[in-house]
Amino acid sequence: MARIVQKYGGTSVANTERFMEVARRIKRYHDQGEQVVVVVSAMGGVTDRLIKLAAEVSPQTSEREMDMLLATGEQQSVALLAMALHGLGCPAISLTGAQAGIETDGVHSKARIRNISPERIEKYLGDGQVVIVAGFQGQTEDDMITTLGRGGSDLTAVALAAALEADLCQIYTDVDGVYTADPRIVPEARKIGTISHDEMLEMASLGAKVMQSRSVEFAKKFGVQLEVRSSLNQSPGTIITEETEAMEEVVIRGISADKNEAKLTVHEVPDRPGQAARLFGILARAAINVDMIIQTASRSGRADISFTVPKTELNTIRNKLAERIVEELGCERIAYDEDIAKVSLVGIGMRSHSGVAAEMFEALARVGINIQMISTSEIKISCVVAEEAADQAVRILHRTFGLDQEP
Ligand code: ASP
Ligand code: MG
Repeated sequence: MARIVQKYGGTSVANTERFMEVARRIKRYHDQGEQVVVVVSAMGGVTDRLIKLAAEVSPQTSEREMDMLLATGEQQSVALLAMALHGLGCPAISLTGAQAGIETDGVHSKARIRNISPERIEKYLGDGQVVIVAGFQGQTEDDMITTLGRGGSDLTAVALAAALEADLCQIYTDVDGVYTADPRIVPEARKIGTISHDEMLEMASLGAKVMQSRSVEFAKKFGVQLEVRSSLNQSPGTIITEETEAMEEVVIRGISADKNEAKLTVHEVPDRPGQAARLFGILARAAINVDMIIQTASRSGRADISFTVPKTELNTIRNKLAERIVEELGCERIAYDEDIAKVSLVGIGMRSHSGVAAEMFEALARVGINIQMISTSEIKISCVVAEEAADQAVRILHRTFGLDQEP
């Protein structure tokens, strides 16, 4: 008998028909004798609608009340799913995050899970029930309802899988799994059979938004095996697991393109100690996440520093920080470029194979794509290119590294 945690996202429970389908799937597992814990998100669009409602009654909503409101979306889902299972004659019970024993800190709207007391879930499982837990929510020590940040149901599922020592945590969504590249850009992209937690984290942070990154980190830390798969069909998905030596044989696992960053260049920075500290100190104090950084060689005592930030931070920098930066660094001016994309190769096999970077640069050069910035880690190489060249770059790299062929 296996113990499985299944998470169904908003698209999997978009309407009552989908609830019935999900219920039939859960019942099949239950009928086979598995212990099933189910985590559900709010029905697709509900969380967004609640956020809009809040904005209509007040421009400034308290985060505590926001959590109180948003948590209701998931509560609707668990109750409806329990009813659907009852209709099929399958014993099931729904629980709020608090009832499921999920304790968080008090940071409303992005609370962290502190502890899970699984006794109540264990008891119901022992009674042969399917246990349905509201995703995305928890409760503080002093009984305040909290939420875990957008997409937080993934985290609820992974944390429960760890606490319950489940054999597998299945994440049901509207895609079949994790692909070697975005199939909308690369029609030959293949579904990846197995990917390591680290590779998945890189793919996720690079814009392949299949799962919330925090939940993959959590899965890695607690050794939770994940499967991302579709709730619309029966095909097996992508397994995300602890890495094995055999997994290093594949050099490149996947390619992603992130179009959500912008490049800034601070021109003519006087070249003396402390300038980088000053620049990135100003950004850090404004809680702006800087990704790639390069500095040109100094010419006549001045150098250019380029870096990338999320596009969403551009206005803050332009309106609130730019003047200070120019003043404090004594630099010439700041240039902004929103039309860039970061194209990345990801694979743990890079550790044991050399020449990957050279091959990547050559492939881009052959088709005349200019590389504006480069960064590497042990399992990733990223190049910033013009946004209009990004799709072509991904297609060419996909072919160059043979990702359209069976590994
Ligand atoms: N309903 C929440 C959201 O839309 C949580 C989730 O879907 O995982 O962000
Ligand atoms: Mg979601």
